[in-house]
Formats: sequence, structure tokens, C-alpha cells
Amino acid sequence: MIKTRFAPSPTGALHIGGVRTALYEYLVAKKGNGTFSLRIEDTDRARIVEGSPEDIIETLNWLGLEVDGEPIFQSKRADIYKEHAKKLVMGEFAYEQDGAIYFKTKKEGKTSIVDLVGNRKIEFDNATQDDFVILKSDGFPTYHLAHVVDDHLMETNPVIRGAEWISSIPKHVMLFEAFGWELPQYAHLPIILGPDKSKLSKRHGAKPASEFRKDGFLPEAILNFMALLGWTPPSGKEILSLSEMISEFDLSDVNIANPIFDITKLEWMNGEYIRRMSDGELTKRLHEFLVDHPAKEKIALVVPLIKERIKKLSDFVPLTDFLWEKLEYDIEVFKKLNIKDQNEILSKIMEKLENMEKPWKNKDFEKTFRGLADELDIKAGDMFQLIRVAVSGQTVTPPLFESIQILGEDKALKRVKEALEFLESTS
Ligand code: GLU
Repeated sequence: MIKTRFAPSPTGALHIGGVRTALYEYLVAKKGNGTFSLRIEDTDRARIVEGSPEDIIETLNWLGLEVDGEPIFQSKRADIYKEHAKKLVMGEFAYEQDGAIYFKTKKEGKTSIVDLVGNRKIEFDNATQDDFVILKSDGFPTYHLAHVVDDHLMETNPVIRGAEWISSIPKHVMLFEAFGWELPQYAHLPIILGPDKSKLSKRHGAKPASEFRKDGFLPEAILNFMALLGWTPPSGKEILSLSEMISEFDLSDVNIANPIFDITKLEWMNGEYIRRMSDGELTKRLHEFLVDHPAKEKIALVVPLIKERIKKLSDFVPLTDFLWEKLEYDIEVFKKLNIKDQNEILSKIMEKLENMEKPWKNKDFEKTFRGLADELDIKAGDMFQLIRVAVSGQTVTPPLFESIQILGEDKALKRVKEALEFLESTS
């Protein structure tokens, strides 16, 4: 039976890099009809950050990486580790010194494992292995003891974790041997780097997964993007659902080279997911995302207009706010337009709109203002851009006529008037 576990240390919110570890553990478990559990490694009391386990649990939920069983907190298992440390002392594999219990390493020979990532042998000279602490003076275990005891008792196999643990392999192998327990298989995932090949950090756009959520990223896009950091599906597909990942995933296809985190690719992928969503689904996501939106019932009307134009759910707001929020015109926006005698032309626009037969039709609207542009010898595009800025206060909006329809004819006309007043007051 395949049993995997995600074992984060609660030292902060779940980092985006940790999502890949959790995802691969989840995929391996699901592919093998096994279980995926969560173990909170909170034995390093000084490094614990309040709220971190809650963030980890909430984020895994949001991502759809459902955990089997209740999360296990190592801090509640202190007695178990103590008891096991004592056993090692009794068997003369460990000794107590200055308050802590140390494991006595073997100094002869070599220790090796075959890692599932890259199917490669990783070997260490035991002579390089110093004795190490397994139980600290505060009574809590170090990672080494807790990992071996818990993964044995939980029957974890394979153990999937970050490559930063490779150097600790001999410690773990020696501990398993001392207890007389079978060694699990290990898969060490290559460390994710930034585009400049340095350790992934904030300046590469990396941050906790919950912040990507707040920024309007979709869980399925995050999973898809993270899955491809170091793994190429045999089908070569770039967009894969979670169930497609489950059927295609195999640890032996994980690349041993360090993957590069490219935030622009994540943004592209998120936009792809948005475009592939039905209008109804996108509306639902926007409703959930924009909890305090002032015109929730109108979101559905706007969705078809913006679906091709947004990459993140949050992009919806600046693009469409003018439809329901009061405008603050900015003179700089008007200054950037190609039309210079804006006051005069805006009054002509107003006049045309006042005389246009209601309900306004796209055809008439186009004809009227193309005609006016011709008459005034200006480009039609510049004319529509001036109308756009007058009704929305901004140069980028959903298609103009459709926006005006959502805004309503009266309000659109009023905006043109207000724009004119604004320009008159500033000149
Ligand atoms: N708490 C360890 C970490 O956050 C877990 C490593 C493991 O999965 O065993 O890196």
C-alpha cells in the first residue's frame, strides 16, 4: 500500500514551493490508490509561527489536495519519541550527554540509497558522519528522530521530500537500521530556483500560496504550473487537470535538474485556465473572489466581455470598476489622447448621443461616430478612444459599446457631460 505524507514545519504560511512537494505526494498516493496524510512538524518550538498550521490546512483544501485522516501534530507525540530515544540508549546506539541524547554513528564503511528521482545511487562515506542529537534537552526530538519514528509508524512509503535532506540520508538510514526497521524508499525533489539560478525568493515573485490566492490565481492553474516544475508528463501536454496528472505522474519522470520558477508562465497559465472556463464557472469564481463587490448581479453580464482580457481574477476589478463605481477623472489620461480640442468634440459627442434613437444600437453608434470623425477630419479610433475615456475614465476597458450598454444610456450620457465639465474646470 502506498502511503505518502506532506510534512511541513509550521514556520509560516505554506510557501508556493511546498505546494509542489504536497502535490507530488498527493499524485503518488492517488495513482497507487493509497493515502496522503498531513503531518505538522512542530517540534522545533522556537521556529513555530502562530496560524501557520491553519494556513497550511486551508491552502491544501483550497488547492483540492484532500488529506486522508486527521492532521498529525508531532508536538502531541513527544512521549513516543522519548520512548524510542530511550530504546536506542538501552541498545547502546545512543547516549546521553549535557542534557541531550546523541546517536552514535557508524564510522566504518559506506551508506547508500537509490533515490527514486533519477533512479540514482547516493552514497556517503560513514567516516564523515559525526554523532548527532536525536532528542533535545527540552524533551522534543530533532527532525531526524521524528522522521524515522513517524514514517515507520505511519508506514510511509515512499518518503518524498526536498533535496535539502539528501545530506541527512546517512543519519536516517543508520537510525532505521538501529531500530531494526525496514528502510522506506526515498524521493528527493530538486530545489526550485529563480530565473537567475539563485534560491527562489520574493524577488522572483515567489510567496506563500495563500497570497497567490489573494492575487486572483486559480488553484488548478497553480497545481498545473507547479507540477511542471521538474516533471514532463509522458503525453507532453502542458495543460493538465488533477486527474490527468494522477494518471500520468511517475516519480521516475521527475528531472534531477533544478527547475526554474517563472512567474510569467504562471500568469500565462492562469489566463489560459480563465479562457477555457465556461462563462458560468468564471462568474462563480468571481463571485467567490470578489466577496464585497458592489454589483455582484452584474458580474455575469461582464464576464463574456472580459474573459479574453484578464489573466487573474483580480484583473477584473481595474478593468470594470468604472461600470459601478463613481469616477475620478485624471487629466493625465486625457492628455495622452490624440485628440487635442477635446472640449469642443465632447460637446458634439454629447449632442449626437442625445439625438440618437433609443435604445442605442451598436450599428447606429458606430455609424454616427465614424461619420462625426469624418466630418471633423479626425481618426475614428481616436474618436472612440475619447468616448471611452469620457465614460470610463480609463484607456483600457471591455468593448466600448457593450460597456455602455451595461452602464446604461443615461449614465453614459451623464459621464460624457461630467467629463466635459471636468475638462472645463481644469483648463
Ligand atoms: N519538516 C520538514 C520540512 O519542512 C519535512 C521534510 C520531510 O518531508 O520529511 O522540510
